[in-house]
Amino acid sequence: MKTNPKQRTIGSIYHRMKDKINLSDKRFQRGSVWTREQEQFLIDTLIKSLDIPKLYFWDVKNEGVYDYSVVDGQQRLTTIFRFLNNELELNSEFTPEFANKTYEKLPEDLKDEIYNYELTIVIIEDADEEAIQDLFLRLNNGTTLKSQEKRMNIGGNLSKYIVNMTNHNIFSKVTFKNKHRDYEQILAQCIKLELEGKTTNTQGKYLDLMYKEEKDFDVNGTVAKKFKKVLDYMGEIFSEENKVPELKRFNLISLYLMLSQMIDKFVIKDKKDLFKKFLIGFWNDLTNYRDQEKISDDKRNLDFDDFIQFISSRTDSLESIDGRHKILLKYFMLKNPNLEIFDNNRNFTEEQRLVIYRRDKEICWHCGKHVDWVDFEADHRPKPYSKGGKTTVGNGTCAHQSCNLKASNKEELLPGWLK
Ligand SMILES: [Zn+2]
Repeated sequence: MKTNPKQRTIGSIYHRMKDKINLSDKRFQRGSVWTREQEQFLIDTLIKSLDIPKLYFWDVKNEGVYDYSVVDGQQRLTTIFRFLNNELELNSEFTPEFANKTYEKLPEDLKDEIYNYELTIVIIEDADEEAIQDLFLRLNNGTTLKSQEKRMNIGGNLSKYIVNMTNHNIFSKVTFKNKHRDYEQILAQCIKLELEGKTTNTQGKYLDLMYKEEKDFDVNGTVAKKFKKVLDYMGEIFSEENKVPELKRFNLISLYLMLSQMIDKFVIKDKKDLFKKFLIGFWNDLTNYRDQEKISDDKRNLDFDDFIQFISSRTDSLESIDGRHKILLKYFMLKNPNLEIFDNNRNFTEEQRLVIYRRDKEICWHCGKHVDWVDFEADHRPKPYSKGGKTTVGNGTCAHQSCNLKASNKEELLPGWLK
């Protein structure tokens, strides 16, 4: 999270920023709306050139609609805008010299002074929703309790189990600290993914719900066993490393998800080095890409662009987790195309199917036309399964179900033979 305080005059905020600011972001629920007196008192503060507390703006340009969402200062800004719109008159008690006057009825020099009054705006960048929620809570209630700390009060088996698992050696490899029970929060997010068996929302409210629902969590059950198996594998990946700075919060969760989906399907027992190389390599490539001064259109990597977007905010949302997962999986499988599934089963896994579909740009190997996901089949080519072809991403191609059928029993085919 980066915070960047700026001085901005009321005039420039009103004219240049007003329409780009979200003043009623539902993610930050306020208490009661200000009374007219509270509004008039603020304007009196302004007229007397007294200090108005800092305003906090969250940079949400990547969400598309607004540039900023007001985390703190919503009522103050709304009041100032209302006053400049002549929708609010001054109070005869607070400001008797201008009793009942609206903005336009004030003397010109005072109007200028109000226009030139400088507010301090703190722009927050690179923060996810969880961090912003926490900031909002602190600014409003002065509380230092973070969500995970409150979550612990729910109690139950799951809560105890998660506290226990923070002793796992994977956390000796990370470079971030366990302040505010961050490790427990990460573990809770991984368990949530494990319980769902697929990508899912892992934001605070969903974790709260899980803690309540899993009070009787079976610490020796299948979910717990699988969870520990994946964590152990992660620990072994980095067994020779002292610290792994690439294991950031969200990377840890992404790696968990990848391994959780692959560990029972792919032959990866002795392939721990592949994951280490991959994670460090991917992060290195992404950082180099991001650090470039200017990227020409033909050098753009849309996956990297998306990935950067996904990690810039709301990393716990379904959209971010799912988006990152698909990109990571795609790169991992493309880098390791010969990764085999257990017993060379004829059926491609969902993970392989997705990677093959995206890699082949949704174009049929046989006919060269576009394939809808519902018509898509992963086909064993160039070497058919019947000829001993492996069920790997490297020997899988995107095909229409119908084209695949036409190709059955035909062995030596070239791409596009049905064009
Ligand atoms: Zn086709």
